[in-house]
Amino acid sequence: MAKHTFQTEVNQLLDLMIHSLYSNKEIFLRELISNASDALDKLQYLTLTDDKLKTLDFTPKIDIAFDSEKNILTISDSGIGMNEQDLIENLGTIAKSGTKNFLSKLSGDKKKDSALIGQFGVGFYSAFMVANKIIVTTKKAGETQGFAWISDGSGEFEIEKCEKESHGSEIKLYLKEEEKEFANRWKIEEIIKKYSDHIPFPIFLHYTETKSEGEGESKKEIIEQKNEQINKASALWRISKKDLKDEEYKEFYKNLSYDSSDPLCWIHTKVEGTLEYTTLFYIPQSAPFDLYRVDYKSGVKLYVKRVFITDDDKELLPSYLRFVRGIIDSEDLPLNVSREILQQNRILSTIKSSSTKKILSEIESLQKDEEKYSKFYKEFGRCLKEGVYSDFENKEKLLELLRFQSTKSEGKEIAFKTYKERMGKEQKAIYYLQGEDLELLKSSPLLDAFNKKGIEVLLFAEEIDGIVMPMVHEYDKIPLRAITSKEALENLGEESIEEDTKERFKSLLETFNKALSDEIKEVRLSARLIDAPSCIVSDPEDPNAAMIKMMRQIGAMGMGADIPEPKPILELNPNHTILTKLLDAETQKQEEVAHLLLEEAKLLEGGKLKDVNAFVKHLNTLLQNSL
Ligand code: ADP
Ligand code: MG
Repeated sequence: MAKHTFQTEVNQLLDLMIHSLYSNKEIFLRELISNASDALDKLQYLTLTDDKLKTLDFTPKIDIAFDSEKNILTISDSGIGMNEQDLIENLGTIAKSGTKNFLSKLSGDKKKDSALIGQFGVGFYSAFMVANKIIVTTKKAGETQGFAWISDGSGEFEIEKCEKESHGSEIKLYLKEEEKEFANRWKIEEIIKKYSDHIPFPIFLHYTETKSEGEGESKKEIIEQKNEQINKASALWRISKKDLKDEEYKEFYKNLSYDSSDPLCWIHTKVEGTLEYTTLFYIPQSAPFDLYRVDYKSGVKLYVKRVFITDDDKELLPSYLRFVRGIIDSEDLPLNVSREILQQNRILSTIKSSSTKKILSEIESLQKDEEKYSKFYKEFGRCLKEGVYSDFENKEKLLELLRFQSTKSEGKEIAFKTYKERMGKEQKAIYYLQGEDLELLKSSPLLDAFNKKGIEVLLFAEEIDGIVMPMVHEYDKIPLRAITSKEALENLGEESIEEDTKERFKSLLETFNKALSDEIKEVRLSARLIDAPSCIVSDPEDPNAAMIKMMRQIGAMGMGADIPEPKPILELNPNHTILTKLLDAETQKQEEVAHLLLEEAKLLEGGKLKDVNAFVKHLNTLLQNSL
C-alpha cells in the first residue's frame, strides 16, 4: 500500500468544497457521470483506432447502485479505466490549466465564488462535498492489474493493488450522514434526469423492490432486483429542433460547458446535401475564465456519427470564436480519423467556414436587442476585433458588429453604420482618434478643429484597437482616417498655413527644433489646433504604442525589449497668443517655453510625463522670471 499526498492546489480546492462553498451539492453526480462518459468516449475511440483494443469486449454503459442503510453510492463505468500512474496524476493533482488562476480569483463571497467554481468545472473532487470517504476501483483497458484509490479527502490518498474483473472504474462514495438523501432511488433519478439525460450512453439504476405475495399465513416478502435505464441516452443534438424544449437546450449547455448560468443563445443546425453534419453552438453569457489565456481550452467537441473524437482541437472554429461552446457531429469523416490529420481535412474546413458564418449571423441578429447586444459586446467585443484582424473572409461582417465611443455618442457605443448615417454630405472620411485612455482622448486638443466644425470623431481607446484598426482602411467604401494624419487635415480643408505666417515663424521653429532635437522628430505649424498652443502627433509611419507593446511581448525581430520608442512630431498653433508673443522673446526664453509646450502636449496626450522633475524645473524658471 502506498501513501501519497495531494498537490497543494487540490487541498485548497477540497478545502473550499468541503466547507460547502458550493450551494449546489447535487452536481457531484453530474461530474462523476460526466467523467464516466468521458472514459467511455475515450475507450470507444480507441476500439476503433487502436489495433490492440479492436477486439476488446466493449459494452459502453454506466451503472449506479446504492445502499440506503449503509449510505453508500456507487457509480461504475465500462470505460478506459486507470492504472497506477493515471491515478496518481489524475486523482492527486489538478492538471487543468488555469487552476491557480482560478483559485486566486476567488473573492470570499460565497455566491460569486460558487458561480466561478461552476464555470471552472470542479470535477471529481466535488464528490467530497457529500462523501467522507471515496474508494475508486479501476482497471485500465488492455492491462491486467487493477488498483484501488482510497481517500477521505484530507490531504492524503492511498493506492493499492486489487482484483478487478473487467476494465473501467467504480467510484464508491461513503456518504456523510447528513447527505444520505443521495442514497435514494428518486433523488438519484431526479438528478440524472436533470443533468445527464443526454449523456450518449445508457445509465442504469440498480435498486431492489419489496413485494408482498399471498395472504395471512402464506404471506411472503419478495425482494426483486431491478435494473432500469433512466436517461434518454440520445445525443440531444440529433433530435429535431421542434422536439426540443428551451430547458433541454439549457441543461445540455450546462453539462457541456460547466457553466452554471444559462447560455445567451444557441444555434442548432442540421445540414444535408453533399456534406452531412449537425452542429449545436452556444454563446455563453459571460466570458470563460481562460478566454485571454494562451492555453485556453477549446469549447467545441467533435463527433463522427455520434462517436466522440476530440475536445482538444482548437481549429474547429477560428480562434477568435473561442468563447463559443458546442458540438460538431459529422457523417462524412471516417470514424478512425486521426487527430493529426484533422487539421488539413477539407470536410472540416468546410464545416468550419459555414459554422463561422452561422455564428456571425446569430451575433448580427443579437443586435436587434440593444441591451442584450451591449452585454454580449462587453464580454466578447475584443474577440470580434481579433476577427477583423484575422478573418479576411468575414471582415465586412465583423466590422458591422464593432462598437466605439465617439465625440458625439454621449458615453454610448455606436456602430460604423450609425456614424455613417450621421455623416454630413460633404464629409469624405470616417475620422478617428486612437489612444490608450478614453478620458484623455475625449479632451484631446487634436479634436478642436473637428468639434468646431461639428464633425464626429470615433475614439479608439482599447489597446487592441491600436493593432487592429490601422488595418481597416475603409468601411462601406468610406476611408477611415486618423485625425492625426495629413489626409485628415486636407479633407478638413485646413491644411494651408499662409506663406507669410510660415516665414514669420521660421526662426522660432529652428530654435524649437534645436532645443528639442533629442525628444522629437520635427516641429511644425498646424491648422488643427484652436484652443491649445501645441500638440504632439505620431508619424503615421511609426508603430503606435499598442503595436510596440505587442512587438516587445513577442520579442519581434529578435530585438526583444530593445524596440525604441518612436519620437513624436510637435505641432504648434500659430494663432495662439503664447506663440505670437514668443516670436519676439529672447532665445533663452523661447527654449524654456519649447520644453514646456512639449511637456504640456505630452501630458494631454498620455496623461503621464517620463521626467516630471524637468517639467517642474522648466515651469519654475519661467514663473521666477515672470515675477
Ligand atoms: P476533468 O474531467 O475535467 O478532467 P475531473 O476532476 O473530473 O476533471 O477528473 C480528473 C481526471 O481523472 C479525468 O481527466 C480523468 O483522466 C480521470 N478520471 C476521472 N474519472 C474517471 C473515470 N471514471 N474513468 C477514467 N478516468 C477518470
Ligand atoms: Mg470531469
